[in-house]
Amino acid sequence: MPVPATLRTNCADLVEIFSSSQGEGPLIGCRQVFIRFCGCNLECAYCDTDHVRDPLCKIETAPGSQAFDTIDNPVPLDRIIALLKHWEDDYPGLHHSISLTGGEPLHHGNILSHWLPELRLLLPIFLETNGTQPSILASLIDDIDYISMDMKLASVCGFETPWNLHKDFLNKSEGKITCVKVVVDVNTPAKEINTAAEMVAALVPDAPLIIQPLTKNNAIHISANRLLELQAIALKRHKDVRIIPQTHRFLALL
Ligand code: SF4
Repeated sequence: MPVPATLRTNCADLVEIFSSSQGEGPLIGCRQVFIRFCGCNLECAYCDTDHVRDPLCKIETAPGSQAFDTIDNPVPLDRIIALLKHWEDDYPGLHHSISLTGGEPLHHGNILSHWLPELRLLLPIFLETNGTQPSILASLIDDIDYISMDMKLASVCGFETPWNLHKDFLNKSEGKITCVKVVVDVNTPAKEINTAAEMVAALVPDAPLIIQPLTKNNAIHISANRLLELQAIALKRHKDVRIIPQTHRFLALL
């Protein structure tokens, strides 16, 4: 029997919901509720994010406890609203925003068009995205407050950088980009950083470009000298370029 449309948009396949400190980008250190969606439209070579659909979604029992219950996937919006209201009542002022992460949250654009207006009544919406689905972004932009967008560099990801999609995405971001992030490693050439910095400078000049060293198996895959070289190259094109690693890994945060 076909699934009713309302059920399809009321429920989403999620990996987990938890409360932690943002570990990347300019909102680093802000306390957020993280909603991690299953699935992604890309296959980055370095990806170690658990976004494969499981029959169960993990839900933190209390903010920051790192203890989890599980519920069946797909998870209904009502369940999430009830959880967040409960957390907001018990811990007023704790959370800066809701981070939609993944996987790729925009993979669930149809569901988000129903979810975002309701979630945003509770907290501002922070979207973490790979920046490759501009038309979906355009359909949701009115209900998004902050966007952290990745640019996928070929040297690290193992596929051609989708420059045109990134460009279109930035053009549709309506001033909500808080940062553009590039993951780099020892193979990242100056040319890629140049192109990324030029695009950020041209399209979102007030947004910082974050150079994030690739961290895998708890090791950083680029030297400090090379990171500084890449930053110097990018600063010739864009005024605000920062080196920020994934801090949550060092702190053993979720
Ligand atoms: S975009 Fe993110 S979640 Fe998707 S494959 Fe790349 S690193 Fe993994």
